[in-house]
Amino acid sequence: MLDGISDSAGAIVVGGGPAGLTAAIVLAEGGISTVLFDKRPAKPDNRTTALLAGSVTALGTLGIWDRCAAQAAPLKTMRIVDATGRLWRAPEVKFEANEIDLDAFGYNIENRHLIEALEHRTLSLPNLRFVGYEVASVVPASDAVTVSLKNGGTLRAPLTIGADGRNSMCRAAAGIKIEERTYPQVALTICLKHSRPHHDTSTEFHTPTGAFTLVPLSGNRSSLVWVLDPAEADERAALDDADLAGEIERASHSILGKVEVEPGRGLFPLHVATVRHFADKRIALVGEAAHVIPPIGAQGLNLGLRDAATIGELAVAAYREHHDIGGAGVLANYDRLRRADVGSRTLAIDLLNRTLLSDFLPVQGARGLGLYLIDRIGPLRRAVMREGVAPTAQPRLMRGEAL
Ligand SMILES: Cc1cc2nc3c(=O)[nH]c(=O)nc-3n(C[C@H](O)[C@H](O)[C@H](O)COP(=O)(O)OP(=O)(O)OC[C@H]3O[C@@H](n4cnc5c(N)ncnc54)[C@H](O)[C@@H]3O)c2cc1C
Repeated sequence: MLDGISDSAGAIVVGGGPAGLTAAIVLAEGGISTVLFDKRPAKPDNRTTALLAGSVTALGTLGIWDRCAAQAAPLKTMRIVDATGRLWRAPEVKFEANEIDLDAFGYNIENRHLIEALEHRTLSLPNLRFVGYEVASVVPASDAVTVSLKNGGTLRAPLTIGADGRNSMCRAAAGIKIEERTYPQVALTICLKHSRPHHDTSTEFHTPTGAFTLVPLSGNRSSLVWVLDPAEADERAALDDADLAGEIERASHSILGKVEVEPGRGLFPLHVATVRHFADKRIALVGEAAHVIPPIGAQGLNLGLRDAATIGELAVAAYREHHDIGGAGVLANYDRLRRADVGSRTLAIDLLNRTLLSDFLPVQGARGLGLYLIDRIGPLRRAVMREGVAPTAQPRLMRGEAL
């Protein structure tokens, strides 16, 4: 039993990253009394997230976006530039949001502002309790999952959401297998000030070590995700601010003019992983507990938010019909609904990343041809943009429909 909480809840969420916070908010908004546990992250997260249009709509519907809007920058144009210097080079491809009748593909926001807005929303929901404790064990049984905390105390619920990131304890407790691979790449993340405007344009340079992606922030600021081989990433991360700014200016072909590096650098080894099942034994996995993809094309957390919306909508519908919210029916539907969206995006991003690393000429040619066709064929181009922003079948929250 925990202070001020009885020994059972309607639902438990393990993990208070953006996917877990969103899942907890959806469940509580739908009337389910929810407890969220999170051990606070060891290091501050200096990354930013490009939230695509459906995610922004869902956060608006949940009453979160108002607090994010002032900190977020629109993404109106996306450029892909082949900077591999190889024989088979792809043409530059430029996508404009207005080609598919959107004002912006989405908005880029620093993770700290997104988390702050999500945490603020949790405080306004009386049936949601955020507990800053580490979970020590998760034990499923036929009628409920029991979660025990490191500093004592247990809680039971008929549904537990595993939002506890890459090394998910919930995934292990559910006995769900994961297929994973590590790339010989590390992403260096930095926020920058620059002398020239970004014109709401994100630019992804494809280099022989991976993508070098500049994404607008508000004002003359941008975030950089620079994918490098591990030794190079360590070297760059150890440079002083002036030398690092010089390297960034060179690699970005000075498109943003003079660059100033802001405090805080992150290093993220790149990884691809997908679970065989999204749920089992009253445990449903969301976010990086279920899938990890390289940071190309801004898909990772957008998938995580669709996971959170989907399990939330299914559980709330079951709750309102007085059905078992963690029963086999809800979990099987969740597994079915998330498979195609996560599977297709993981495959596409994995392939694109691997073609960058490949020295095999026909592979480089195929990548160049693919981008050439996308650039030249209007309907294909618009289909790629629409599918990139959102899958054909989206959760209701992503379509702006309240629970
Ligand atoms: C360089 C980079 C750039 C990216 N850019 C984008 C982008 O532009 N757009 C996009 O959509 N995605 C992007 N992503 C992906 C995105 O960052 C991730 O999908 C997202 O951060 C995952 O969120 P999460 O909530 O699933 O997991 P996490 O943020 O890892 O949260 C897991 C939480 O669980 C908690 N936890 C773990 N174990 C326990 C325990 N035992 N007890 C209690 N709490 C526990 C941790 O403290 C943590 O708070 C990027 C990723 C990288 C690496």
